[in-house]
Amino acid sequence: MPGPFLTATVEALRGATRVLALTGAGISAESGIPTFRGEGGAWEDGEGLAYATVAGLMRDLEGAWRWFDAMRRVVGQARPNPAHATLAAMEAAYPDFALVTQNVDGLHAAAGSRKVIEIHGNLYRMRCLWDPEHRWEDRTCPLRRLPPACPVCGGSARPDVVLFGEGYGPEVEEAVVFAEQGVDVALVVGTSGAVGGPRCLVEAVREAGAYVVEVNVAPSGLSDVADDLIVGKAGEVLPALWDQVQEGGMKNGEG
Ligand SMILES: [Zn+2]
Repeated sequence: MPGPFLTATVEALRGATRVLALTGAGISAESGIPTFRGEGGAWEDGEGLAYATVAGLMRDLEGAWRWFDAMRRVVGQARPNPAHATLAAMEAAYPDFALVTQNVDGLHAAAGSRKVIEIHGNLYRMRCLWDPEHRWEDRTCPLRRLPPACPVCGGSARPDVVLFGEGYGPEVEEAVVFAEQGVDVALVVGTSGAVGGPRCLVEAVREAGAYVVEVNVAPSGLSDVADDLIVGKAGEVLPALWDQVQEGGMKNGEG
């Protein structure tokens, strides 16, 4: 079992009121989900790469949907792990808690997290190619019709995930607003830090005084802005860390 943990980290989590968690592919990988972006990711191989951009998607929409349908099937088999469960428990214990994730698998919601900001979208959401305001959830697996049709206007759907070369969706604004209102502790879990947005977010909250804890299997592109880097699997580190935080009693939290 990992730990004991740095006193400064445990005290920061005990005294925190507003906590921002940021999760990346590492936490999903521990549930057996293939990585999309990054080395060895599903979007790095031949077929996945062909559909990882808007141009690729539009070139062969039906083929793209066949690939996404297969990914939805693989991801649909996965279950949340103890790291997801711990983050859901933390949300219940803090007065203000936001979970920003780069993952598109929906496992945080499946684990019971309520305020989940999915900055890269969700594999089980779709949006209309004709009107981006038409967005809906569809968990049908396998899909009956490729490409799926918009329930509002009948237009063709695309997956509501952020592809390479695309900007973030409207969700990212919610993350920025939460960060701007002040954060006591930022907990960065299993993200490579390779993408610009998350790094900017973590840098901004740290400059504003947040204590930054990173949990990762290896140092990442964000480790240089972390006050504490805990090396290990999130599914082992987070439950142990949370136990140690709670053993001493929370100060400002409600748990
Ligand atoms: Zn539509």
